[in-house]
This record gives sequence, C-alpha cells and structure tokens, in this order.
Amino acid sequence: MNGVRTRIAPSPTGFLHLGTARTALYSWAFARHHGGQFVLRIEDTDVARSTDASVQQILDAMHWLGLHYDEGPVYQMQRLARYHAVVEQMIAAGSAYRCYCTPEDLDAMREAQRARGEKTRYDGRWRPAPGKTLPPVPPDVKPVVRFANPPTGSVSWTDLVKGPISISNEEIDDLIILRPPPDDAPDGTLGVPTYNFAVVVDDWDMKISHVFRGDEHINNTPWQINIFRAIAGQGTPLPQYGHCPIILGEDGLKLSKRRGAVSVTAYQEAGYLPEAMLNYLARLGWSHGDDELFSREQMVQWFDGSHLAKSPAQWDPAKLAWVNAQYLKQADDARLAVLAAEQLARRGVVIEHAESLQPGCALYKDRCSTVVELADWLQLPFIELRPRDEDLAAHVTDAVRPALRDLRERLTEIDWDKAAIAAAIKDVLARHKLKMPQLAPALRVLVCGRVQTPSIDAVLALFPRDTVLRRLREV
Ligand code: GLU
Repeated sequence: MNGVRTRIAPSPTGFLHLGTARTALYSWAFARHHGGQFVLRIEDTDVARSTDASVQQILDAMHWLGLHYDEGPVYQMQRLARYHAVVEQMIAAGSAYRCYCTPEDLDAMREAQRARGEKTRYDGRWRPAPGKTLPPVPPDVKPVVRFANPPTGSVSWTDLVKGPISISNEEIDDLIILRPPPDDAPDGTLGVPTYNFAVVVDDWDMKISHVFRGDEHINNTPWQINIFRAIAGQGTPLPQYGHCPIILGEDGLKLSKRRGAVSVTAYQEAGYLPEAMLNYLARLGWSHGDDELFSREQMVQWFDGSHLAKSPAQWDPAKLAWVNAQYLKQADDARLAVLAAEQLARRGVVIEHAESLQPGCALYKDRCSTVVELADWLQLPFIELRPRDEDLAAHVTDAVRPALRDLRERLTEIDWDKAAIAAAIKDVLARHKLKMPQLAPALRVLVCGRVQTPSIDAVLALFPRDTVLRRLREV
C-alpha cells in the first residue's frame, strides 16, 4: 500500500491514556508495516484545559514506549491562521456561514423545540439559502461560524474495525467550526476552531490515509467526512477510519482513573517494561492467532489493520503482570540494574553504582513481575530490617539457635562468595545434625525478613558480610 500516513492526536489535558497509547501503537505499527509515516499532533485547542506539563508527559510517554514519530509534534494552536483561511474559503463557497445566535437565543430555541416534543438541534436560522432573508445582524454579537451540513442524503464509510456504517444527514445539524475570541482578548486575537473542524483540516493537510482512534469518536465521523468533502472536494479519497472499542476495567465498566491507573506514566512508575506494555496493549483489541508474546518487529510485520476486535477488551492486571514477568526474565541485567536503581532512589535508597545491582537482578528477576518487586528484593541489604514476630517465632527456634551462632562464627572467617558460604552452611548442618529446611528459613527471616528467597547461599553472597553478621547477632 502506497502513501500510508497515520497520526495520533492526543489532547494535552492530562496524561497519555492507555486507550490513546493503544491506538498510537496501532497507528505506528500500521505505518511501519506499510513503510509509511507516523505523525504526532497535539490537539491543544482546549486552551483552558491544555497544559505544557501534559504535553511533556505525552512526549515522554511516547518516547518511553518507543513509538517514534516521523513528523511532529504539530501543535494546532500554531495553525490558527490556516484554519481561518479554510473557514474563509468555506464561507465563500457556501459550505460555512456566520451565526449570530446568542446563548440566550439557543436556549430559547431548544426550549421551544422541547415544548413541541422535537429533538433539540440548531434550526438553521442563520444558514443562507436562495430566496431566504436572514435576520438583521445584531450589533454586539461576535458570530460563530457553522458548517453547512448537507441537509439530505447520508454519510457512509466502511470502518476498518466496525465494518459499514451509514448515518442520515437529517440526524446531523450545523456544527460550530469556529468560535470567536473571548470578549476581553486583545485586538487581532484569532478565534479557536472546534475539534471536528481542526481535525479535518489537519488530516487533510497532513495527507493522513488511515485514522485509528477510540470509538467515542464514531459520532463525530459523519461531520468530519462531510467537512472533509466540503474542503477537499467530493472525489477526494477520504482517510480510512478504524474505531477501536473502549477498554473496560476489571469491573466491566469503562476504564477510568477512579478505578485504577489509566496513564502510561503510572505503569512506567509501577515498574513495567515498555516492551511488555506494548505487547499487552497490542493484544488488547487485536490478535495474531493465539500468540500472546511478540516483539515490536513481529507486531510491525503482522499489523495490517485486520484482526482488530469489534467488542471491548477488559483490562486484566494479572495478565499484564504475567506479560511483564516474561519480559523481565529475558531482560538484560545491566538494564534492569539501572531501572531498579531509579526505583530505589525514589525510596531514598541511593545506589552509587547501579552495576553493583546486576548480580541481584540476575538472581531475583525470575520471581518478579515488575521492577518495583525487583527493587523490593534488591533493597534488603540497605534497609532497616524488621522481621515479623510470627516469622521469628516460627523459624528462629531453640532447635536452630546454636547452629545459627556457630554459622555466624564461620561466616566471619571464610571468603565471601556463594561457594564458601554454601560450604560453611553444609558444615554447620552436619555438626548440628540439622537439615537445610530447618536452618534456611531461620536465616532467611533474620537476614531478609522473608520466609522464602532464592537459594540462601546465593542470597547471602549478595549482602555485605557485615550486614549478615549484624542480622545474625541477635540470636
Ligand atoms: N484529540 C482527540 C482525542 O484525544 C483526537 C481524536 C482523533 O484521533 O481524531 O480524543
């Protein structure tokens, strides 16, 4: 397929939502699959709610996920002059017009429609038509500009996800495409376009061929198609639209902030790896046979816009944790050490040389689902340890105390490595006629504060000798 250009167009009114990250991934993979381009556009026309901090978070999240864009970020607020030029062309061509209704006029219009039992909609009173006399222009009202939607016929498209969709134009009223600047704005301030208009001008100017986005935008698409045709001409091929179903939370309701983390950044902070996030997000709404684990390269190779799910997928934290665990197992220890050191720094545990954590990463990563869990293990030598009383009572019994004291003595004099520690433990077990399952839990509780750990000789070797001796001192 030639000329494939996709985009993602987040609004910087918050973090990068998981749903947007998923459609960003689909857009990116589709462009890469076809050797096309992927564009990042920042839809910052909601001036009151857009923030620079949010733009930065979005850029950081895209970078973290490795969704590299070929063009952008393009900021809509830097394109106001262009939207105004298109509006003027549309007014001249009769596909847009100025409307001087005040909020009070619109309220009264709706009230009257309700009283007549009609659906509320703009009644077209400022829409020019042959032979129609428009109301006199009120002196103090700054007009909005409305799109003159075709009054009859229907809008149809074949959605890449949902299949054929058709909406009658009678269902759609004349949408506001441009608002005037606020009354107190300095002279020369340009009014800001509405989403449905700016999105079309941009998709047209940027030659976007395929749009993947959330299905909350399905109802906007008929307007966008009509505006597109008005701007680009009837014969111009439309972008192809694919509307992906929303992501549901564990409770079957829309995934939302109230019901857990919904931002990409939150998962980064919670110790997930970007490749695991991408893998999990990809699978959430798309499939390639029964494959559960696949690389970015495979995703690019396979993602051709087909096999997108029509029904909503449910966010499954346990599955995500499983996917992340698979990637952690394979991850390079040097990389994990750096990530774990960052996690530890946030807890106030400063590791001067992240490389020093590598052996611990190698030992613990198999039993962790996240880098946070990995950091929980790695911090053990550095924190004030308080084993639980019930663990101490259960495992540090009179039966093992003499052996523990003896072992402590031995540990003062041996070479500090796994083999020597293992030999010392073996020796002590033999002398005290104990078995490993009697001594090891006591050591684990005293040194790690945990009943279960990887092989205790390997664990102890990761601790500074002094720390181990100190923790065994109390027995
Ligand atoms: N700014 C819109 C959003 O964040 C973009 C929708 C679109 O992709 O057209 O929902």
